[in-house]
Amino acid sequence: MLSQVVPWQRITSRCFNSSRIVLLRNASSSSSGGEQQFDLVVIGSGPGGYVAAIKAAQLGLKTACVEKNATYGGTCLNVGCIPSKAMLHNSHLFHMAQHGELKKRGIDVSNVALNLPVFMKQKDDAVKGLTSGVAYLFKSNKVTGIRGHGSVSGPGQVTVKKEDGSNETLKAKHILLAVGSEVTPFPGINIDEETIVSSTGALSLKQVPKKMVLIGAGVIGLELGSVWSRLGAEVTCVEFLSHIGGLGIDMEVSKAFQKILTKQGLKFKLDTKVTGAEKSSGGISVTVEGAKGGNKETLDCDTVLVCIGRRPYTKDLGLDSVGIQMDKRGRIEVDKNFQTSCKGVYAIGDCIQGPMLAHKAEDEGIICVESIATGHEPHIDYNCVPSVIYTFPEVSWIGKSEEQLKQEGIKYKTGRFPMAANSRAKTINEPEGFVKVLSDDKTDRILGVHMINSVAGELINEAALAMEYGASCEDVARVCHAHPTWSESFKEANLQAYSGKAINFS
Ligand SMILES: Cc1cc2nc3c(=O)[nH]c(=O)nc-3n(C[C@H](O)[C@H](O)[C@H](O)COP(=O)(O)OP(=O)(O)OC[C@H]3O[C@@H](n4cnc5c(N)ncnc54)[C@H](O)[C@@H]3O)c2cc1C
Repeated sequence: MLSQVVPWQRITSRCFNSSRIVLLRNASSSSSGGEQQFDLVVIGSGPGGYVAAIKAAQLGLKTACVEKNATYGGTCLNVGCIPSKAMLHNSHLFHMAQHGELKKRGIDVSNVALNLPVFMKQKDDAVKGLTSGVAYLFKSNKVTGIRGHGSVSGPGQVTVKKEDGSNETLKAKHILLAVGSEVTPFPGINIDEETIVSSTGALSLKQVPKKMVLIGAGVIGLELGSVWSRLGAEVTCVEFLSHIGGLGIDMEVSKAFQKILTKQGLKFKLDTKVTGAEKSSGGISVTVEGAKGGNKETLDCDTVLVCIGRRPYTKDLGLDSVGIQMDKRGRIEVDKNFQTSCKGVYAIGDCIQGPMLAHKAEDEGIICVESIATGHEPHIDYNCVPSVIYTFPEVSWIGKSEEQLKQEGIKYKTGRFPMAANSRAKTINEPEGFVKVLSDDKTDRILGVHMINSVAGELINEAALAMEYGASCEDVARVCHAHPTWSESFKEANLQAYSGKAINFS
């Protein structure tokens, strides 16, 4: 087999083991006896699958990607990250205009009104542009896109059931399962995607609800609850836990976040569980009680949004036929190479363990196929995967929270910097929130970064870069940051953590 070595070496901590990438030039590419043959067949075209397929093709593997939906891009592009962010952005602009935020800045607008069909069209256009962009990328990278439901029908074999009922068999040296996840149903509550909706239905409601009960104040729930609250709905969030923002969020941030969202009009019922939802001609009655029982109450509304999480989607995937094992939560079990219990079959993204995030799925896809192409061991540091809530202000975090550090008995220092002391935030009148850096008491190495501010979703990537490279707070504080920028708040928080004093705040 002819091979070509890429003339550079990657020596980052992330790819420590990949000293060279070998491009497979003579990969099998034929079709024999009516069966197409590939080096790699990816099932699922979400951010995990489509990115893996493109990378594999770039590395010289003859690659196909099987997708059951009409468009590529999976949950993220079709009913997840992309449409929700379009709606978050535009509802924020509407809220600014309607609630005098623009007026305060000398911009007089009158007769502010919502045109929901146009609002939804902008979101749909964004989705269409990006999903068709994946089709274009497949074409330009020579990935064979195949429409249909894929299943593993034997070692090295995928059967694709097409829309017209016919079956196509694909032969593959390697199979990558990137089948993602689906909405977790709420036992006893029937989601009709009209008045009782999941995140999917909440992305295309035909009118603004008067009263919405949101079940679950985690990341997705708070984003979509914010959207409809800004557009005029009275939103009550019922959350089983005693805090908002889901697991992993730092409690100091969570508390500040709840205060800000409450000021914006969202109502919260924490430590509370939903026990049922009854539809009647007058609307929907949601019954709730304390998480540990007691305090029964009925909440009346016209729309219920169920956001209690997502679960792996492995329906009719043929896993049993090749003995692929799952864990108790229905996730496909993989080893450190992302290989399942069946040799040559790999899995990545939402259908395996770890945070259900698009960028986690993408990174796993890339390193999995690099490992298939080169034989090198993949490496990913899950402690360096950032989380973002795209509300206003945004919330983000990476690494350990204060609660985790205490629980693990790790001694740490804290650096905090309020956005009210950041010149850029003050200049544009967005002073809410802060940046908090947690570092090792002895070595000064950054262990966790938590923030709430208008650009936290962007700013966290600087923290990710620093943590991936094992930076100390002093390292970051000595890097020249442009002025005036929000990023200076991160620099100052690091300065405060390692020296005890920030410059622009005391
Ligand atoms: C409302 C919402 C907002 C979100 N916002 C964010 C965000 O801002 N940032 C973020 O990081 N994450 C976000 N997420 C999560 C993110 O969408 C997922 O983590 C991500 O899409 C997972 O990628 P994946 O490739 O593993 O799976 P998916 O994106 O779920 O893709 C799996 C694909 O496989 C296909 N498939 C499944 N089975 C088969 C089969 N047998 N044959 C053929 N095709 C099959 C499916 O049709 C689907 O297209 C959000 C999710 C939701 C619901």
